[in-house]
Amino acid sequence: MEKSRFAKKYRGHQCLNCETPLEKEDKYCSYCGQLNSNKKLSFNDFFNEFFGSIFSYDSRIYRTLNVLIFKPGKISLEYIKGKRAKYANPFRFYLSISIIFFLLYGLSLNDNRDDVFIDVGNQNTATIEDYKKIKLLTENELDTLGFAERSTKKIEIYLAFDKLNPGKSISESLEELDHKDNFYNRWLF
Ligand SMILES: [Zn+2]
Repeated sequence: MEKSRFAKKYRGHQCLNCETPLEKEDKYCSYCGQLNSNKKLSFNDFFNEFFGSIFSYDSRIYRTLNVLIFKPGKISLEYIKGKRAKYANPFRFYLSISIIFFLLYGLSLNDNRDDVFIDVGNQNTATIEDYKKIKLLTENELDTLGFAERSTKKIEIYLAFDKLNPGKSISESLEELDHKDNFYNRWLF
């Protein structure tokens, strides 16, 4: 521990951050909370600081989340009473949870997108016979489907039509399929 920047021999008489006078006994500055240490930061210190801050922050998030789920209302009551340092700052907590949510949401969205393309058929292994099995429904016949399903079906139809009629332009293909030659269909094609 003698080498640690917490060691007594590195303590000074003034906070390096806010210049508040300090005693040798003060481990931290009483005004700003910075560690009372004159030791130059080594890579090891930096590394420890980095993980320390992540985990101390994490434990607050974890505690907040835990209490929020199992004892709803407790945090609000304690907050009003003044017990606040125990829990994550509400705004920071909201931000962290949002970031985690959108990260997970983004990942799950990617998975769904893969599913769509598996449904359409793996282009590498599908044969002409596979494409012939796909019913080339007209736009009117697709009308009963919801937007997402209809779009997926269209991709499947356009892919099959293109494989069976190589070289045909998008406009010609849409006309032959009895699909509208609009921006969305062209984009899907
Ligand atoms: Zn200070």
